Amino acid sequence: MQETLKKYFGFSSFRPMQHEVISHIMEGKDALVLMPTGGGKSICYQLPALLSEGLTLVISPLISLMKDQVDSLRANGIPAAALNSGNTDTSNLIIRRECRERKLKLLYISPERLMIDIQGWLRDVEISLIAIDEAHCISQWGHDFRPEYTQLGILHEHFPHTPLLALTATADKITRQDIIEQLQLREPKVFVSSFDRPNLSLTVKRGYQTREKNRAILTFIERQHGGSGIIYCMSRSKTESVSVWLSQHGIKNAIYHAGLSTELREKAQNDFINDRVQVVCATIAFGMGIDKSNVRWVIHYNMPKSIESYYQEIGRAGRDGLPSDTLLFYSAGDYIMLSKFAEESGQREINMEKLRRMEQYAEADVCRRRILLNYFGENMSHDCHNCDVCQNPPQRFDGSVIVQKALSAIARTGEQASVSTTIDILRGTYSPEVREKGYMSLKTFGVGRDIPPRDWHDYLLQMLQLGYFEIAYNENNHLKITPSGKEVLYGRTQAHLVTIIREEATSKKRGSKQKASKQTNAFTPQADSPDLFDALRALRKRLAEEEMMPAYIVMSDKVLQNLVLARPTTIEAFGNVSGIGEYKKRKYGQVFVDLIKQYV
Ligand code: ADP
Ligand code: ZN
Repeated sequence: MQETLKKYFGFSSFRPMQHEVISHIMEGKDALVLMPTGGGKSICYQLPALLSEGLTLVISPLISLMKDQVDSLRANGIPAAALNSGNTDTSNLIIRRECRERKLKLLYISPERLMIDIQGWLRDVEISLIAIDEAHCISQWGHDFRPEYTQLGILHEHFPHTPLLALTATADKITRQDIIEQLQLREPKVFVSSFDRPNLSLTVKRGYQTREKNRAILTFIERQHGGSGIIYCMSRSKTESVSVWLSQHGIKNAIYHAGLSTELREKAQNDFINDRVQVVCATIAFGMGIDKSNVRWVIHYNMPKSIESYYQEIGRAGRDGLPSDTLLFYSAGDYIMLSKFAEESGQREINMEKLRRMEQYAEADVCRRRILLNYFGENMSHDCHNCDVCQNPPQRFDGSVIVQKALSAIARTGEQASVSTTIDILRGTYSPEVREKGYMSLKTFGVGRDIPPRDWHDYLLQMLQLGYFEIAYNENNHLKITPSGKEVLYGRTQAHLVTIIREEATSKKRGSKQKASKQTNAFTPQADSPDLFDALRALRKRLAEEEMMPAYIVMSDKVLQNLVLARPTTIEAFGNVSGIGEYKKRKYGQVFVDLIKQYV
């Protein structure tokens, strides 16, 4: 097993759980594997495929996923193909012949196609393993139900001696049970690996308004040295305005949302996969079917509606295991909007609860990763040191006066003001509403001039979370003071607010902090040897264009970094680098070694 892993994939050791799963499958037994995105599920069936006599079938729900996997396998010299409606009849004919002639090791197939072929030509082919990828699609409990998957229950009838391996990155207990029952797995062993993604940094910024958010995004992208990323927005129109902003600042980007034509969406996806654009501004419609391993960062322009969605979306970064950054913006506006959606969703209780958990995450003053993993039922007993809370623990101060000013402004309007009007009153701004309602004559008008509007947004959000006021969604989002708010307003209790730390004030400090965190995060040659890394990246891009393949399939970012570290100057040494199998060694060794020699 070890030898085959090195020979074909260039890895010298297994990731957690891969070895156990593969041994189990090689004994001809069924299994269900739960591993997070980027955990290394593919090897769990690709290696058994190479070690077995016959053909391995891989059932996959999307043509784009199949294509990506087949390309990666072929790039490692492994004979694989995909049968689906996207192929021409001739190419499907050739593929079937190759299967019969035992020329292919892996065949990717859609469930619909399989149901037809199972009655026909597949009966004459020796099938050594059937892998069901994205197995949660079989369950109505899962978030991505596909009716075609439900027919897969007949697999064992047709292939009584073939082990079935179901794999997924998302499955709670009900879904797990459902997968096992529907596929009729026989005494399956369930492998559950940790869902931790330690390479993803977690940061939340509270109370930023559009302008400040846009500026923060630019700074963030600048720090990414051209690395690819996704910006998730709540609405289609927001994806468009963010895109315009990025273009104005010379950042190549694409838009993706469900309102675009199929062609435009495919173009956006392909431009992203092939590094023709650096950023995709997208709604949650984007992501399924994206296997791009070198997504270096994910930004949430707005807060997602649940921790499940959030974790899935940030999970699209850093599949190659390299350090990747995630950033969530969270504002009162998001909260109001999402509460409205939840209230009107028909599943009010559940959705409000999910939203509250998401909010608690955003408001956390303990390690964020602990909150996430706990949410998924996994206990983590130490802090992660790779989230903003671990790196900059929030400091609280006695904010009673601030809270009193705000609540008093709200009270004096007769609780008829929204968040923005309250800020206008505090700041002494003559906005149309202030004039119309005569709020400039209130005693509190202008008492909060010393605090910038952006900080007021932050404080008000904190006050909302602390339960000092509520938002009346059915009354133009006016703010209503709660009994505990009154306690603070009348000076009967103190209010402890979190000190706001702004980017500009801390950029110096952050510089040194980042260095410190780098030590924990492992050495990043990308930042430390930019010249060689860029040269390798350029070579990879040239090769990818020649072969008409995404760059990350020619070689992952991780492999490029390994090359910077090892700086191999012989083809033999090149082949020893992790992630270079024999096929890539022969194919690319010379060009890479020639390039590296110029830098040694
Ligand atoms: P998943 O399907 O679980 O999202 P993949 O199978 O795509 O994950 O693997 C994620 C990444 O991890 C890929 O870039 C793959 O090459 C890499 N990988 C998988 N197994 C190993 C291993 N044993 N050693 C090093 N890298 C690995
Ligand atoms: Zn942490």
